[in-house]
Formats: sequence, C-alpha cells, structure tokens
Amino acid sequence: MEKSKYIYGNWKMNGLLGHVELAKAVEAGTIEIGAQNVEVGICPPFTLLKTIKDGINSIVVGAQDCHFTESGAHTGDISAIMLKEIGVGAVILGHSERRTNHFETSDLVAKKAIFAQQSGLKTIVCVGESLQEREAGNAETVVLKQIIESALPELEAAKLIIAYEPVWAIGTGKVASNDDIREMHLSIRNKLIEIFGDSGKDIPIQYGGSVNAKNASEILAIENVNGALVGGASLKAPDFLEIIKAAATL
Ligand code: PEP
Repeated sequence: MEKSKYIYGNWKMNGLLGHVELAKAVEAGTIEIGAQNVEVGICPPFTLLKTIKDGINSIVVGAQDCHFTESGAHTGDISAIMLKEIGVGAVILGHSERRTNHFETSDLVAKKAIFAQQSGLKTIVCVGESLQEREAGNAETVVLKQIIESALPELEAAKLIIAYEPVWAIGTGKVASNDDIREMHLSIRNKLIEIFGDSGKDIPIQYGGSVNAKNASEILAIENVNGALVGGASLKAPDFLEIIKAAATL
C-alpha cells in the first residue's frame, strides 16, 4: 500500500542499550496497528543505530545528522555511506538544534542532503522560524528562504521529506495553531511545486513541535500535513504508537 503519512521519532541525545527494547516495541505495535499507509521511522543516536537496525525489519531506522562527504579528516563526523552500510534508511538534516548549537546553515544542510541522497538515504530536511521571527511577522519569509536554500532542485523529490518545526514549539508543549500550520504547510507546498514541478505535490511535509498522543489526530488531519516529526513523545512507546494509530486512521 502506498504511504500517505510519515511518522518519525527523533530520539535526540537520548537512548542507552536498554532503549533497543523501545525500538522493538514500536515495531511490534506498528505491526499490530496494521498501519500500512504509514511510514514509521525512529532516529536514535548514532551509537544505537546498528544494534537497533539488526533487530528491526519493518520500520525505518534513521540517523539525526551526517557529513556531506564520504570520508576524510573530519573528526567526530559520520558519513552517509557509513550509515547506509549498516542499513540506515533516512537521515534528519538541519534540525533547529543543529542549526543553533552547531551553527549549521541552509547551504550546509543542502550539501549534506545532496550527498546523503546520493548515498541512498531518504532526507528529512527541517525548517522553522524562531518565536522572534514569528512575532515580527517574518515566519513565512524565513521558512521559505530555508526551503529555497536547503531543498535544492538537485535533490530527488522521491527521497525528500520536509519537516516544518516552529523552533518555539519544539520541546515546549506549545503547538502552532491549526490555522498557522495550515497556512505554513500550504506555502511550503506551493514553494515545493515551484522548485520541483509536479513531483513537489508528493513531497511529504511533516509538522513537528510538541506533537503528542492527544493532539496528533487533529494536527495530522490538517491539509498538507503528511506526517509528524516527534521528539519527546517518541521516547514512550504507548504515546508514539497512539500517534501512529492516529495517522493510520486518517
Ligand atoms: C523535534 O525534536 O523534532 C521535536 C519536534 O521535538 P518535540 O516533539 O519534543 O517538540
């Protein structure tokens, strides 16, 4: 069955070996739900990728970052081909925590995305405005600029997911209003069609920012919301499975 919703969990810097059980519970629960229209992914820290991947078949195991070259003198970095070799299927790029804490620019995100796709990974490119930018009325301008700069036409639409994550909504319990989400997702959709032509219509756009078991159904039902990138709630199997269930019933 063709996928119509894309639910990915971003574990961030959380997870020791005991968390392999969480991954297994998510896979088992997804099978039980019968969420065949939903692409489910979990993105644990680098140290858990191989162990988790070795025990999992039916959901995507993704990374949270990668370098834009194959190998070389880049202490501390991980290459997309290293990820691919161990069975990783996707990578989150340009998350606001990386843009802020590691000064990642959209240019850099674009370079990473191009190399990751060439290495065979699906790329989840994150964009989103700060509270200051929203309050100044610049949210759309900022987000579309990030799209233009980091979702280049060199990318393959079929391997691209965009995650719209208002920075002020990440990990704060604050969610953008339904109208704000609808408006922003429509603007992103139009920009993707401008960049990629007809295939821009099919690029999934996830919403991210305090999505949880309670608000998922409402958010996922908004037009042009094709999934969710979930932080905190992806660390509890029952909560994450509720979100997957909400997507499966749409
Ligand atoms: C995220 O980290 O991408 C995220 C959306 O986090 P949270 O769901 O915790 O707000």
